[in-house]
Amino acid sequence: MKLIAPDYYTKFKCIADKCKHSCCIGWVIDVDPDTLEYYHTMQGDLGERLKKGIDESDETAHFILGEGERCPFLNQSGLCDLITELGEESLCQICTDHPRYRNFYSDRTEIGLGLCCEAAGELILKHQEKTTLVILEDDGENEELDVPDESLLTWREELFAIAQDRSRSVAERAAAILDAAEMSIPERSLAEWADIYLELERLEESWTDCLQGLKTTDISDVPVLDTQEWEVAFEQLLVYFLYRQLPFALDDGEYEGRAAFCVLSYRIIHDLCRVHAVLHGRVGLDDLVEIVRQYSAEIEYSDENVEALLDALFEE
Ligand code: SF4
Repeated sequence: MKLIAPDYYTKFKCIADKCKHSCCIGWVIDVDPDTLEYYHTMQGDLGERLKKGIDESDETAHFILGEGERCPFLNQSGLCDLITELGEESLCQICTDHPRYRNFYSDRTEIGLGLCCEAAGELILKHQEKTTLVILEDDGENEELDVPDESLLTWREELFAIAQDRSRSVAERAAAILDAAEMSIPERSLAEWADIYLELERLEESWTDCLQGLKTTDISDVPVLDTQEWEVAFEQLLVYFLYRQLPFALDDGEYEGRAAFCVLSYRIIHDLCRVHAVLHGRVGLDDLVEIVRQYSAEIEYSDENVEALLDALFEE
């Protein structure tokens, strides 16, 4: 079995106390059974804190979030007390993994970094070279790639090639991806799309504000963002969505819809940046990182929200 990742993957480093939107705030963090068993062996003050800080009454144990929805082990300096006292090996599976995600195929596991993490966003969206996939691990067992996986990966290669064709604008590449998927995005005004996004479950108030901005701001005078730095960033965004989202089609059969979802996401994020330019007088790549962080956290991490958008792509 091989472990495959985008080439930037190994450069990732959590920025911990410098993170403005820590993943230790606002998310329910489950504790896996092995780690829970290990935590049960803890004695002394830390053992007591672990006992009080974990709710074991549900089927899956989880940390009990405190004031401001903070993990009880996130201290005021923005550092994790478990790492400080016991080292990174003491973390539960979710905390060890985040912001990594995995997709499983018959002959490989693919791993990536989720854009809901601002450090991952910085790394991915400012990566200048075309993203390639690299083998991180190979145990030498050559498992056979089954037919559905092989056709999906072959198709994804084609879509990657379109997304990374730097002889065309990213807007043209996105349209070509839709053509390849024999899909179109239903004709709706930005306000109508904003209403669809506003109907979805939302986590942060600032995301609601963003969508309200999309609904009410006239961006017709704002040029499209197509300087070289924007083009590279949007290319990385498209490739990220294709890498992460297409494999779900193996489960739900929504091959065309998933490809269209990638394009829709890129277009909405692009226009959210233009809205930002109107409302704040300027927009830069740091704003893109933040908009993408919110989009990823609010949309990508909710199966229901992605499914609702897939439905919206097929409704006239
Ligand atoms: S969101 Fe990313 S950078 Fe911030 S604390 Fe979590 S892993 Fe670290």
